[in-house]
Amino acid sequence: MTTAATLPVVETFHSLQGEGHHSGRSAFFIRLAGCTVGCPWCDTKHSWPPDRHPDMALATLAEEASEACRNGAAFIVVTGGEPLHHSLAPLTEALSVSGRPLHLETSGVDPLSGRFDWITLSPKRHRPPRADLLRHCHELKVVIHNTEDLVFAESMAAGAGEATLLLLQPGWESPDGQQLAVDHARTNPRWRLSLQTHKWLGVR
Ligand code: SF4
Repeated sequence: MTTAATLPVVETFHSLQGEGHHSGRSAFFIRLAGCTVGCPWCDTKHSWPPDRHPDMALATLAEEASEACRNGAAFIVVTGGEPLHHSLAPLTEALSVSGRPLHLETSGVDPLSGRFDWITLSPKRHRPPRADLLRHCHELKVVIHNTEDLVFAESMAAGAGEATLLLLQPGWESPDGQQLAVDHARTNPRWRLSLQTHKWLGVR
């Protein structure tokens, strides 16, 4: 874990949130570099080595975020990589000048740091999340490729809070995952389907 006035950044961009409860809303994304979780189906493997990406000053990130918010971004998403490999308190403090809600997307393997208004937990079967993050996340988004993933999703839901939104997200280009997620959401109304709409639309 690092604590610094800079963080390694893969990219920043202003787009629409593509997934989950806030799908379709204007957001500014900060994709931090570094991940040791090692999901075989990861679509951001280029983010794994932090030293292959430039360090950016937190003040610069805050300026970019504020500019995006002036141009319509309703909230700021800190994603990765695995953002909680870093100590995020200095970043969220810097971003608070934007006045917009701060969202976090995490696998939950590290302790929470920073102050966030919305936490999306996407747990991984091979590296289960911390129980405290599971209990306090706002949405639980489980990627589904096979029946074992569904069993895992239900075990995660059992540890989540009462108000946590439960989302099944088919693995990209996984027909089995699509069918399983649709069938499970149809027959288990506490769950809903989450699609990666940005990928379907071919936008960032
Ligand atoms: S936790 Fe996220 S960034 Fe890390 S390997 Fe898994 S999908 Fe990729």
